[in-house]
Amino acid sequence: MATIEKPFRIVVVGGGLVGLSTAHILSKTDIDFVVLERHGSLAPEIGSLLNLWPPTFRIFDQLGIQDAIDPILSPVNHAVTMSADDGTVFSSHGDRGIQVTHRPLFIDALYQSLPDSFKARIKVNKHVTKVNISDDGVVVECADGTVERGSIVLGADGVHSRVRQCMQAMEEGRSAPGVSEKPKSPFLTTYRMFFKAIPIPPTLPGNTNYECAAERVSTQILTGNSQAWFAMYEALDKPTSERLKHPEKDKEGALQRWGHLYAAPGVRVRDILDLQKGGIGMINLEEGRVDKWHWNRIVLVSDAIRKLEPHAGLGYNSGLADVVVLVNKLRRLLESDPSPNTRALEAVFADYQNERKKDEPTVHRMSRSRARVYAWLGTIDRIMAKYIIRYTNIAIHSAKHIYGPVVARAPVLDWLEEKSFPENAGIPYVHRPLVGGKKPNDHYHRIITTIGSKINSG
Ligand SMILES: Cc1cc2nc3c(=O)[nH]c(=O)nc-3n(C[C@H](O)[C@H](O)[C@H](O)COP(=O)(O)OP(=O)(O)OC[C@H]3O[C@@H](n4cnc5c(N)ncnc54)[C@H](O)[C@@H]3O)c2cc1C
Repeated sequence: MATIEKPFRIVVVGGGLVGLSTAHILSKTDIDFVVLERHGSLAPEIGSLLNLWPPTFRIFDQLGIQDAIDPILSPVNHAVTMSADDGTVFSSHGDRGIQVTHRPLFIDALYQSLPDSFKARIKVNKHVTKVNISDDGVVVECADGTVERGSIVLGADGVHSRVRQCMQAMEEGRSAPGVSEKPKSPFLTTYRMFFKAIPIPPTLPGNTNYECAAERVSTQILTGNSQAWFAMYEALDKPTSERLKHPEKDKEGALQRWGHLYAAPGVRVRDILDLQKGGIGMINLEEGRVDKWHWNRIVLVSDAIRKLEPHAGLGYNSGLADVVVLVNKLRRLLESDPSPNTRALEAVFADYQNERKKDEPTVHRMSRSRARVYAWLGTIDRIMAKYIIRYTNIAIHSAKHIYGPVVARAPVLDWLEEKSFPENAGIPYVHRPLVGGKKPNDHYHRIITTIGSKINSG
């Protein structure tokens, strides 16, 4: 009897920033999928800011969602670094290319811009508790007793990824920890963060990022077009891989302890509280990476595999790039083999991991060092913050020459048209999507990027 081939189906666990972006990417393929989100709502309780880097907009352009996102973006035109202790300005320079948005608005825009037929594939109140694997598929169990079947599981379920826990347990031949257990994290927490959306303080201009440095604590006010975001980063007594839960009263305590610090010229932490009452977020900032990103029919992306301190604003931007590379490779495999076996899938996952890992050291180094320059932990960090950043152009140099090449190598969806390639951005992008089965003319591409960088470098 002939066997009936099941269509390839991806069970995406996690409907956060990257899970929703994955839905957009998969909506442009023939691949069937479902997204399972444990919470009843996709929006976070307390909104923080989200910086978006230039390559991320190339993907939005390909996905046709730039128009939905444009109204909620503010450019960040200026960056000011100061002492949080006495308000001395260390450096002040123009910035370009980065845009900031309010996370709840961004999540809403991502969701609303999905066509209705795809919205129906985002299922909320689906707390994934277990992942089971067979030779030809996966069965994902949820706390409400429902199951979802598919060909693979894509874990976009964040820093405490249940998919990662199940995957590692199966790989090591042991049972997964209980759902209520809090196993040690593969990441290390050195800082915790307090954050709050606020009105733009009346004395500050819009579209400016103020970052204030001090020993073991740093503050930030980023002003957008019509709102601002406040953040304070505080080093813990010692780094830990335990999952810490801080009591609510810690928020009040920290804001009082650091009330005298500057968060922008003429604005101290205690002034922020007077600007607007209400919700302050408090979270641990884990840092680190896991070695193995896949096993059998399970593959992980974004915060489930890499956790970056947010000063450099690279977490979502990197997570999106993971999915772009993964889906490019998966799509290519499915074109030649619509029902790939586990071995073929594992080869694609390994290829994805190898490709994405090339830039990992730079991304982690950038994120770690930015955190430590602002909330310095030792003498070298302090010298860096107070003298080297202040009196040299090392920050601009490293953005251009260390992170610049990573930006230039950012992946694109290789089968989707890019409607408006950012020719004048001055970034010598390496990857161009295929158009009509062909790469755009590379010679022409090189000329326009060179002209673009010349114009932009003045
Ligand atoms: C304060 C702050 C500021 C930041 N600023 C920036 C920035 O400016 N730019 C930037 O690029 N990055 C930034 N980041 C990092 C960025 O937020 C993360 O990298 C990004 O959210 C990762 O997306 P994700 O979808 O992988 O994880 P998440 O956004 O954490 O989403 C994971 C989702 O999975 C769900 N989930 C978890 N477990 C289960 C389960 N068992 N079953 C079903 N669903 C589950 C969760 O409810 C959640 O919705 C910042 C982070 C913080 C904390």
